[in-house]
Amino acid sequence: MASEAVKVVVRCRPMNQRERELRCQPVVAVDCARGQCCIQNPRAADEPPKQFTFDGAYHVDHVTEQIYNEIAYPLVEGVTEGYNGTIFAYGQTGSGKSFTMQGLLDPPSQRGIIPRAFEHVFESVQCAENTKFLVRASYLEIYNEDVRDLLGADTKQRLELKEHPEKGVYVKGLSMHTVHSVAQCERIMEAGWKNRSVGYTLMNKDSSRSHSIFTINIEISALDEWGKDHLRAGKLNLVDLAGSERQSKTGATGERLKEATKINLSLSALGNVISALVDGRCKHIPYRDSKLTRLLQDSLGGNTKTLMVACLSPADNNYDETLSTLRYANRAK
Ligand code: ADP
Repeated sequence: MASEAVKVVVRCRPMNQRERELRCQPVVAVDCARGQCCIQNPRAADEPPKQFTFDGAYHVDHVTEQIYNEIAYPLVEGVTEGYNGTIFAYGQTGSGKSFTMQGLLDPPSQRGIIPRAFEHVFESVQCAENTKFLVRASYLEIYNEDVRDLLGADTKQRLELKEHPEKGVYVKGLSMHTVHSVAQCERIMEAGWKNRSVGYTLMNKDSSRSHSIFTINIEISALDEWGKDHLRAGKLNLVDLAGSERQSKTGATGERLKEATKINLSLSALGNVISALVDGRCKHIPYRDSKLTRLLQDSLGGNTKTLMVACLSPADNNYDETLSTLRYANRAK
């Protein structure tokens, strides 16, 4: 696979109120023109900063609109032409993953990647001539390595992953919902979001401890100049990953610790798959190591595009987590 197929950008959020109250110092510097990000170890001021280069680097003045137009747009455009694509945000809880993916309603420039992708898809559908589209959505959650349908009749039921010789890996019994508009897409996303499993950690009381995948499937049927019908199918996965923080900092014990171990396991499996794909020399891509990577198998690698937005806190007290996010993102390029 050409490494072009995986794009990695970093986005550093502004200092939040708590960090300002604690008089945290910024340790992250972003050079947008070069796509570079530097981080200074606050415990070793004489050490040179560690430097990383990505396909894009965004800081506090950049809005999601710009990130979408520069990086996400071509990926979603590909999906409307019949290719698969995956977009996900990675980072510790509170680093800006939801801000980037879901975003704000106001100002419009900070609307998230997900609502922008919905609009993009339906605009393409409405503009295309001699072409018919069928757009369907599904929404699932992976929690403790169990898969559940967030839009199903029974959202508690654990679903099984199956493998079909032609279709590949699929979730048996996952509900599919035909959607005709952006508003309909937003409504079902909201309904599913409310069905997610929510845990409590010290870092953020309502941080979600699960991974979720909202998938838009587009079937395209186009008439060629001889009146012959051509069918294509594209799929866009919008992935909301659980926080990447290590267990020690979250104060997790018992069930929560078990959860955290599984979260870390799927995140490292995802990192391994992406870095094997980017490397290009690996014959074996370890998709089977987690449900997350098995499910995304047909949308990571091959003829697909992947975008990772690594979200960072600028504050010195998050140095270790931020460095670990930068290292994770760096492996994926
Ligand atoms: P996560 O989803 O990673 O747990 P959030 O997206 O909820 O984190 O972000 C935590 C807080 O920081 C939220 O209040 C959010 O509005 C704010 N925030 C995150 N990124 C930005 C940004 N780029 N600009 C302004 N505020 C941000």
